[in-house]
Amino acid sequence: MGYEVERQSFTTEVCTNCQNIVVTINGTLEDDWRVVGAHHDAICYSPPPLIGVTYPTCTSSGAYDDGTGSGALLELARTFSEWNGTPLHTWKLAWWDYEEWQGSGSPEGGGKGSLHFVEQQIPDNINVTYVNLDMFALNWPVPTPFASQAAGCDEDFWTLYMFTSPVDDWSYYENNGLEVTEEMQSNAEWFQSHLKEINSNLSHPEEWVRVIDDTKGNSDHYNFIMNNHTATWLRGQHQYILEEGDACEQTPKHAQTDSVTTINTMAGGRENVEAGLQTGLDIVATMVWWDWQTPEMLEAQEQEASSQSETSTQLSTLLIPLFLLILVPAIFFLVKNTKKPKK
Ligand SMILES: [Zn+2]
Repeated sequence: MGYEVERQSFTTEVCTNCQNIVVTINGTLEDDWRVVGAHHDAICYSPPPLIGVTYPTCTSSGAYDDGTGSGALLELARTFSEWNGTPLHTWKLAWWDYEEWQGSGSPEGGGKGSLHFVEQQIPDNINVTYVNLDMFALNWPVPTPFASQAAGCDEDFWTLYMFTSPVDDWSYYENNGLEVTEEMQSNAEWFQSHLKEINSNLSHPEEWVRVIDDTKGNSDHYNFIMNNHTATWLRGQHQYILEEGDACEQTPKHAQTDSVTTINTMAGGRENVEAGLQTGLDIVATMVWWDWQTPEMLEAQEQEASSQSETSTQLSTLLIPLFLLILVPAIFFLVKNTKKPKK
């Protein structure tokens, strides 16, 4: 695709050879980044209620978590490589390592790759807006299967959630020590309305493609929000089905069942999986496209700038004689007045 690929290595207590993969598309604004990320690691352990117990035969291809995100990011990279021109913002496409918690036997948590990026790879003066792709495709326009509807799932489609920097409820982040500034609040408000505008432009139904406050963290966007940046997480299906207490099924993740076959079956066919992926791809691609400046646009901008400075020169050459025309009699009048002897 012609990109220069950056390998950003890091280590943690249990990982000695972790690596993020990052591609940069330079924009006009060097100190304002837009980052799109997905994690390239996968994990397998026991499901709830005994969550997090790893065992020897447990392996997962991580098709949904997060093959959908990291594959979608490759497709986006291919798309942008075919666009002429330069974005306004500097865009980075990032494949994170070590997002997954390594299970109950691990001394540390997950989210290490994005944490390394946020803490070590973003200079102090840089503002970042982050889009996280983790587990989507099983979402609008994919219909919920008849079997699950028969079992009591009252939804016609799986929802695509965009868990975004909160507008109303920051409690989760505040409880984790974040001090919410006015700037963060206004950035969050801008981002939520920007995402809603993109969805309405794409005619996505509000009921099934929803921009809402993120109140749980739980993926790589968490590290961005905790470090004063603005973020959203595109996530299909349900996030906390057990808490929601509904009958729509749980996302395949962290288990052997997280395979391409499972996703295709749940979606009712591969073409439905592709349609679900398209919803997320369209959202990110529109966000980038609205930020994109084609060579024609850049040229038009340059022309406008130079014709503006021409007009202002013309204007000033006109104004100087006009100014003199007014000023000279005025001075004459004043001088005449001051010379008048007082009585
Ligand atoms: Zn994931």
